[in-house]
Amino acid sequence: MRTKLVVGNWKMNGGLAANARLLDRLVSEWQPSDGRAVAVCVPYPYLGQAQAALANSAIAWGAQDVSEHAAGAFTGDVSAGMLVEFGCRYAIVGHSERRQIHGESDVEVAQKAKTALSAGITPIVCIGETLAERDAGKTEAVVMRQLGAVVDALGAEVAKIVLAYEPVWAIGTGRTATPAQAQEVHASLRAQLAKAGAADICLLYGGSVKAASAAALFAMADVDGGLVGGASLDADEFLAIARA
Ligand code: PEP
Repeated sequence: MRTKLVVGNWKMNGGLAANARLLDRLVSEWQPSDGRAVAVCVPYPYLGQAQAALANSAIAWGAQDVSEHAAGAFTGDVSAGMLVEFGCRYAIVGHSERRQIHGESDVEVAQKAKTALSAGITPIVCIGETLAERDAGKTEAVVMRQLGAVVDALGAEVAKIVLAYEPVWAIGTGRTATPAQAQEVHASLRAQLAKAGAADICLLYGGSVKAASAAALFAMADVDGGLVGGASLDADEFLAIARA
């Protein structure tokens, strides 16, 4: 059975007091129901706070990146082993902001996914096309290239990742893909994953998901939930999305 999952990506937002308020609301108001999981991916300095607040709850937590290296001279980076010490279940890898701003390549992203998995952390691997790529009819080619690097690196282990399709033009723009657009890409991705024995992977959609748009997106046959940025900072919105 496919996992239904909604993950909040706080990005570089938050502060101790605001986090405490948000986490308290999530813990007290999220009612876990069959087959549905919720997680938040917080900035590194707040992992300890998330661990303390969520440890006895039905909400998991994770990081927004992870180094592909185990240890050593990698100033500013954080290893999978360190994330394990803070109880992380997930690590986002290959978010478009990291690919674009930090120049992460498909191969690096795939290596990060492999390192996370080896440490027992589920990587949430993000892939997606830019608006120029979509307009040029390259959506399928781009997402298949990004996915291909991960399949090459992981082999059969790819069945253990969470994959998030996040069209770059929909992230933080308020412009959500239509349910049909999301489903079209998700169906291709799932068909490709089936060839690698990973047809039942949890496949998330991300890109300006809001409470008002979540139900229609999540009703699509190959959409198993969402990766939620901006709206995950608002308890009402995030809870409504998680319930959708
Ligand atoms: C994201 O950061 O992964 C994301 C989908 O952001 P937003 O929901 O704000 O578009």
